[in-house]
Amino acid sequence: MSLKRSETYRATGFVLRRHDLGEADRIVTLYTSEHGKRRAVAKGVRKQQSRLTGHIELFTKVDVYLAVGANLDVLTQAEALITYPQLAGDLERFAQASWAGETLDRLTPESEADGYMFDLFGVALAAIATADRPGLHLRQFELQALTRAGYRPHLEVCVECGEALEEVTNRFAPLAGGVVCPSCRTEGMSMPVTPRALKSLRWLLGADPGSAGRLNTDPELERELEGLLKAYVTAVLGTESRSAQLLDRVRLPQADLSE
Ligand SMILES: [Zn+2]
Repeated sequence: MSLKRSETYRATGFVLRRHDLGEADRIVTLYTSEHGKRRAVAKGVRKQQSRLTGHIELFTKVDVYLAVGANLDVLTQAEALITYPQLAGDLERFAQASWAGETLDRLTPESEADGYMFDLFGVALAAIATADRPGLHLRQFELQALTRAGYRPHLEVCVECGEALEEVTNRFAPLAGGVVCPSCRTEGMSMPVTPRALKSLRWLLGADPGSAGRLNTDPELERELEGLLKAYVTAVLGTESRSAQLLDRVRLPQADLSE
């Protein structure tokens, strides 16, 4: 369903990004169920009397009315449906939600509706905000969102020789798109992947969205999974994202957040 210039439409979406424009306006990137990713200007939202204020905070699920403009839509009404105050009070969860939002933003073209991707993000966001081990939920979102966007990692057979992978420590080669067996060499960066990490990746990829909490892990395995997927997402998206850098910084004991 494509939209025409100056058409007004209603949608349900998540606020993925926002930045200030001029003195009183704000541009928001929404990922909507009906029309995929849309960018809209919220006029006057930074003035105290605006009816939009408080409804378009980051990661809020909103019901919106928009008018199609030349470049950006114009946001005319917004009502928050679900907010996650937990994210505002926890810098690590906030950084994880930012990484999920930025990944979704960078993986998806504008104006292409994908209800499955919309649901994946909604489930991941709720879990990152509220569940134990939010990092595992982020890992599952990374795997499933990349797969949905056409970047399913090869985890069953060696990407170089096609042989089934044995239960030994193999190598993960992000730019090659998956795992390489010990007999093969690969161009570019690669890192070890232990048998239990490989099993966990396969399980997270295939399991129902939101079920990551059922996986048995320990901190060492979670760190390994994070390193593998961070390398893979970075390979797919091209450059390391700002959210990934934020995640690194909030974890350091004396993190310097002044930048
Ligand atoms: Zn091989």
